This record gives sequence, structure tokens and C-alpha cells, in this order.
Amino acid sequence: MTFEQEIQELLAGGEAEALLQALGGEPTVSVRLNRTRPLMTALTGDAPAERVPWCDCGYYLDRRPAFTLDPSWHAGAYYVQDASSMFIAHVIRSVAPHTPLCYLDLCAAPGGKTTAAIDALPAGSLTVANEVMPARALALCDNVTKWGNPRTVVTNAQPREFARRLPAAFDIVAVDAPCSGEGMMRKDTQAVEQWSPALVRQCATLQRDILTHAWQALKPGGLLIYSTCTFNREENECQLEFIAGELSGEPVAVDTEPAWNIAGGIDTQLPCYRFMPHRTRGEGLFMAVMRKPQGTAGARLKPAKPAKQRDTAALSWLAEPDGVQLATINDIQCALPRDTAPTMLGVMGAVRTLQAGTPLLDTSLPKRQPHAALAYSTLLRHDAFARVAVDRDTALQYLRGEALTLPDAPRGDVLITHGGMPLGFARNLGSRANNLYPKPWRIRTTHT
Ligand code: SAM
Repeated sequence: MTFEQEIQELLAGGEAEALLQALGGEPTVSVRLNRTRPLMTALTGDAPAERVPWCDCGYYLDRRPAFTLDPSWHAGAYYVQDASSMFIAHVIRSVAPHTPLCYLDLCAAPGGKTTAAIDALPAGSLTVANEVMPARALALCDNVTKWGNPRTVVTNAQPREFARRLPAAFDIVAVDAPCSGEGMMRKDTQAVEQWSPALVRQCATLQRDILTHAWQALKPGGLLIYSTCTFNREENECQLEFIAGELSGEPVAVDTEPAWNIAGGIDTQLPCYRFMPHRTRGEGLFMAVMRKPQGTAGARLKPAKPAKQRDTAALSWLAEPDGVQLATINDIQCALPRDTAPTMLGVMGAVRTLQAGTPLLDTSLPKRQPHAALAYSTLLRHDAFARVAVDRDTALQYLRGEALTLPDAPRGDVLITHGGMPLGFARNLGSRANNLYPKPWRIRTTHT
């Protein structure tokens, strides 16, 4: 069977042709703003951009700018994300209880839905962002870091490790599953080349395995949010039927506006939300929510040891030093918000953790220097470092890793800012300032 035949079988009437035609068009461009940063106008100029109907921070752009050359993108002012994927924020706000929650994003890299979830969860919630692929987990770490929320943990573990070591620990588990990617075909030519019925079957088997483990990590009464970016029923409705039938999951409906034009499930009674590119402005997406019944036993987390609080000098960089507890991961001293610290330590003790809370400093370095991640954290005290505001050209020079001259700035560690947003640290020696922006984050192009 070809992909076109699959779509013809899936959709009735003229819908299949309309979808296939839409998949031949141009992908949409959209961004989601970071609520903790000053309002971003550089991308949209003076004209108000069109808002994504289901996401109050989401905006469509009428062209794809060179994001790499926009300092505010590097500062975490916004995330470039497909509009359909932003639906996760609406789902969380619609179905999640309004108390601080423990949220696990099991397939999180590169972090689009994670950062949307961080903003949508009730205040005080903890987000655990997990990715199995080591290289992708590092990219996830960078994106979570730039988003700046300290109530986050980034892990690199298999779903079965969560099931075994953190059973019934999470109020919400999101599974944005690896899939055959039919909904991304106009964005990603690889998805077209790789498609085959065998790939669909292979993905469905993997998804079932991930879902079974995700279910075990969920608290009784907790919510599972399942999503894919593909159209076929095997990877979508059939997986929900599996959760309802084999795992006794209870369907949860999400309120939506008819004007959003979201399609329902195909050949199922279960509530499903399908974003179809011929009906909605965005790529293909499937999402649905299931509740785990009450009755199974909850988890007891065994916390990892907190750091010995010998070197507490870095706490002076924080707005509320009493509100955090220190911990060390691979020589990096991190600040964990006190209210979520016990759970964060519990996760750290159970699965391989790359980052937790706000990294403050690298204790293996001979000289104390603020960790690059601190620049973006909402925990940073506004006047902890002298702030040096720079224009766009100097910002790009800094982001390329070049040395700066800052004749009017005080000596020592300073925070380079652009448009009111921190970009990172530099060490001002007087005659020149050493650039402390991490090498992997630097802009490699010389194009301006
Ligand atoms: N949620 C991400 C976002 O919005 O930016 C996209 C996630 S992508 C659709 C699926 C992710 O699942 C990939 O990062 C992939 O590496 C990961 N993955 C692949 N195999 C996996 C497995 N066996 N278990 C869990 N995750 C897996």
C-alpha cells in the first residue's frame, strides 16, 4: 500500500484529496512566546502577528526569518514551534487539576511541548523532561535551560526505568510518541521517503511498549496525554483502544471551540483531537487524554543525597536564597526550589539525570564563575551582576563567542543583555572582556 492509498482509505468524501493537496503546500511558521521574557516585537515588526487560536502565546509568522540571527531567540524569548503542537498547553489548562503537579514528559526532545507544558502547568508544578537518545537529550537540556524555569529536571532514561524505579509517581505523563511522521511530510522530506506500512506497524509496537511503561509511572487518578504527528489509526485511535481495553484507562474530553476546526477520532467513540493540515493552519497532529483509574498503590521516592552545603557563596546570586536547596550533579552545583526539591531529589536518585533546577556553578573549575544557565533562570537576582546592555551587532558578536571591549562596565563577571534580556556572562578585564558564552551554543555563521 502507498501512503496516498492509506489516506484514501482513512478519509471519506473529498477529504483525502484535500489533505494530500495540503501536504504538498508550504509548511506554516509559528512561534510561542516565553511569558517570563519582555514582549518580543523584533520578529513581527510593528504589525501584530496573527495569534494561534488555541494558544494565547502562539503567533503565526508570514515568513521564516533567520532565527539564528535574532538575539532574542538565543535569549529564550520564544520557541519556534508548529502551531498544532501548541495544543498541548490548551489540553493541560483544560484537564489538569489547579494544584501544583508532578509532570513527566517521557519523549521530550527537542523540548517544544515541554516548554509549552512548563508554562501551562499550575504554578509550583515540577516538570521532568526525559529523552532516551543521548544527543537529543543534550539539545533538550539547552532548550529547557533557555526557557528559564527552575522547577525542571532533564533526564536521559528508558521508559521502562520510569516504570520500574518511579512507579505511580506522576500526576500527568505525556507521551509524544516516536511515530511514522505522516503529519510532518511537507516539513520533512525524510518522512515521505521513509514511509511504509512496515514502518507504521513497527512504530505502533514501540508506542504500545512506551505507553505500557508510561502507565506504570502514572499515579492512580493521573492523566496520560498521548500524541503523535501521524494520521493512521494504528498509531492513534488503536492505541487509545488499547489503553481503554487493556489498561482500563478512562477517556477524558477536552473543551475546544468549533471555530478551531479540529477533527475528531476516526471509527472510535473515544474523544480524540486531530489537527489536519487541510482544516487547521499547522502540521498534522493527534492528541488524546486518558485517566488511570483510582486504586493502585502510590510511589515512595527515595531521594538522592543533597549536596553538602559547604560552598554557599553562589546563593548570593539568587533573588530568594532561602527558597532553594543545593544539590550537585556531575560537579555542577544546582539550586532546587525548596517546595519541589524532595521530588527532584527522588527523580535524581532513580534515573540518569542531566540537569535539575538552576545550575549555579561548575565546582570543578579553579575559579568561581556563574554557570551559563543562571543567566536565563527566573531565580537570578536582577542586580546580582552588573548588566551591560548591547546593541544587536554587539549581541551577535557576543553570541559568536568573540571577545568584547566594555570600557564603561565594571571589572569582573558581567551579564550581557539585549532588549532587556540576558544573553550570558562575560568576564571584563578592562582592556577586553572574555566571552563566557558556551561553545556549543555559539552562532557559527558569519552572515549578518
Ligand atoms: N515532544 C517533542 C517536542 O515536542 O519537541 C518531540 C518528541 S518526538 C515526536 C519523539 C521522541 O521520542 C524523539 O525525541 C525520540 O528520540 C524519542 N524516542 C525514540 N525512541 C524512543 C523510545 N523507545 N522510548 C521513548 N522515546 C523514544
